[in-house]
Amino acid sequence: MVLLRFFRRARRTVGLRRGRLILVVASLLGLAPIHGAIGQGTGDGADQAVTPAPGFDLWLEELKREALARGVSAPVLERAFRDAAPIEKVLFYDRRQPEFTQTLWSYFERTISTARIERGARLLREHAALFAEVERKYGVQPRFLVAFWGLESNYGDFTGGFPVTGALATLAHDPRRSDFFRAELFNALGILDAGHIEFDRMLGSWAGAMGQTQFMPSTFAAYAVDGDGDGKIDIWGSLPDIFHSAANYLSQIGWNGEKTWGREVLLPAGFDAGQAQLSIRRSLDAWTAMGVTRVNGTRLPQVDIEGSIVLPAGIKGPAFMVYDNFRAIMTWNRSILYALSVGHLSDRIVGGGPLSARKPEGDRPLSRDDVLALQTALNRLGFDAGVPDGIAGSKTRAAVRAFQADAGLPQDGYADSALVAAVTDRAGRL
Ligand code: CA
Repeated sequence: MVLLRFFRRARRTVGLRRGRLILVVASLLGLAPIHGAIGQGTGDGADQAVTPAPGFDLWLEELKREALARGVSAPVLERAFRDAAPIEKVLFYDRRQPEFTQTLWSYFERTISTARIERGARLLREHAALFAEVERKYGVQPRFLVAFWGLESNYGDFTGGFPVTGALATLAHDPRRSDFFRAELFNALGILDAGHIEFDRMLGSWAGAMGQTQFMPSTFAAYAVDGDGDGKIDIWGSLPDIFHSAANYLSQIGWNGEKTWGREVLLPAGFDAGQAQLSIRRSLDAWTAMGVTRVNGTRLPQVDIEGSIVLPAGIKGPAFMVYDNFRAIMTWNRSILYALSVGHLSDRIVGGGPLSARKPEGDRPLSRDDVLALQTALNRLGFDAGVPDGIAGSKTRAAVRAFQADAGLPQDGYADSALVAAVTDRAGRL
């Protein structure tokens, strides 16, 4: 019932159509891909309509002149911008701020479902010959391509329903990040002009992420390749193009097909949580000397490779040793939770087990207001968390570490409700 009321409200307030509603349902059930959930809207957050900035038509005329000067053909421009107007839903999603941060556990519950693992394993077998060809050419293990595919579009189920050039024109005209989206728009027009995809099929997320890999147009322009040799690059419908493009991208950003992404590890009692940072790299021998082991207590592999330790749920949660391929995943998407999901899903679809750590009682995502209060209190105490924005980014984590050092707590940089209480209590006593 709550869901039904929610859907009625969502439909009324943001004008969701049936397809969008299916996405909302899928997202709530944990089926929708990460970009589907983030990039296409889950209907939560503020209800207000967003009024586009004035002057779109004049702006568009100027943009078309520049596109012509850049060599985009007149018929492509005419088709792309026929009846063009700002898309209010795009602006709505762009303005929407998530109400809650995600914990590792809430994130994994959405990204690592049994259905997604089983389907990934099936697809790995089904397309084994194609994956083998791609691995020979680019040196990317198939299980990782399947994991990216599953996370980006739920294996092609959710690729977004917005016209890419319309969404990008809306965001390029909007003053917030116009330079970034203007460049993406010119790339999108170039893709149309090259004939890779027809206008009607060039759909994507509200932010312009396209096809089954959810590439932005600039990523497409730099890395997408024609895998089936028909002269076009179709990341919406051609599996060879999709897998060749994803693998080419990964190989160009430093993927090492001889190595894995990382693994869950066990830390010794009293381990200094301040050592768990991506900026700290040590050889596996060095970590072994510090007492780090595999989760079953046995020695880490004796190979010449450097790793970093990440603690996505703080010192009390699971620890992961991550390698350079993990950094490549973070080049694709800068989120640590996304990168851990790709790595863990890739393990699961070839039979790996679940995490050995278990979700703790009381695992509760912080609300935006919690994070705002934390940042404000950290600043008051002299730990620079930057301008409070409700998003716990790297600057906030650094300020949390500084607070923890000062308070004699493990310096894991992780903010949960206990940490927020400790910081705000102390700031309240000033
Ligand atoms: Ca092709």
